[in-house]
Amino acid sequence: MKPREQIEKIEAYSPGTPVEEVQRQLGLTKVVKLASNENPFGYSPLAEQAMIEEVQKINMYPEVALPLLAGSLAEKLGVSREQLFFGNGSDEIIRLLTTTYINQSDEAVMADVTFPRYYTDVLIGGGTPITVPLVEGVHDLEGMLAAVRAKTKMVFVCNPNNPTGTVVGKEQLLHFIERIPSHVLIVIDEAYYEYVHSTDYLETVPLLDKYPNLIVLRTFSKIYGLAGLRVGYGLMNPELVQNLMRVKEPFNVNRMAQRAALASLNDDKFVAMTRERNEQGKRIYERTFSELGLPYFSSQANFVMVDVKRPAKIVYMDLLKRGVIVRPVGYPTTIRVTIGNEEEVETFVQALKML
Ligand SMILES: *Cc1c(COP(=O)(O)O)cnc(C)c1O
Repeated sequence: MKPREQIEKIEAYSPGTPVEEVQRQLGLTKVVKLASNENPFGYSPLAEQAMIEEVQKINMYPEVALPLLAGSLAEKLGVSREQLFFGNGSDEIIRLLTTTYINQSDEAVMADVTFPRYYTDVLIGGGTPITVPLVEGVHDLEGMLAAVRAKTKMVFVCNPNNPTGTVVGKEQLLHFIERIPSHVLIVIDEAYYEYVHSTDYLETVPLLDKYPNLIVLRTFSKIYGLAGLRVGYGLMNPELVQNLMRVKEPFNVNRMAQRAALASLNDDKFVAMTRERNEQGKRIYERTFSELGLPYFSSQANFVMVDVKRPAKIVYMDLLKRGVIVRPVGYPTTIRVTIGNEEEVETFVQALKML
């Protein structure tokens, strides 16, 4: 059996190496995983309580339009419920967008390097990804705009960008949004929105009413610590929401995820605690890289990309032997390291210094 032609060009997702596998293969007892940008401080205790209650209802299908979560989030963000769409992770929303809007021979413009799902999903949809290199780790918005033409259906801006952690300037992004033609969907992926400290960061939600082709993606997987439950959301024009509703699986967000996300929304303390401790960890990483003379990109997220000045795959293996799992991504000599909790940060820093 031969799959569709596009499928043969795609590589299966390569997950961060599992902790258990490293322990078994290398005979290590202590292993820290800093490879998937998960929240090292866990999740809100309110989420746990909500899930314990919800367990009693798991014989029943979940709600299709998530009215409770939509209501609560709409109020918090100052949007209408009709502008909200929920997915089994924001990953699913990216897939639904490409499935719903990309025709054969349509193009989608994105950065190189950025979150790899955009590329894969455009290919699966039968479209053509057009990549525009980053400039010093930052999206080249002018270059991306120049790549837009009649065939372009979508542009992706990952802000902060995974894997570099960088953000695009406020004015530059606003100017970009203004100039993208109205037949092109602008997808701004803000998976790390809650981690951002920069004041030069555009608030995109207030622009939704003015730009019906604007889509903002957020998730409960990162700062809220619910990666294992799979729930993310998109903010967009209600007409776009209606079209995604036609394509999605009816029960795409499960009961536990719906309840835990709702409970997490009310826990500002957990989010603030994560934000603060992440900043402290980031400062330790930055100081260490500077001491070692290793260049890094200035990050607004919970990970940092650093140039280790040696083949990244080798450094990855050397760190693995010392019990630290990172990701060799981006460029030949760069790795991306998630900012862990205090102990994990220390373990990584010590391992790096010993290389
Ligand atoms: C983690 C991540 C996502 C996906 O998050 P889920 O909601 O868990 O699917 C989307 N975009 C970026 C840039 C990410 O890093």
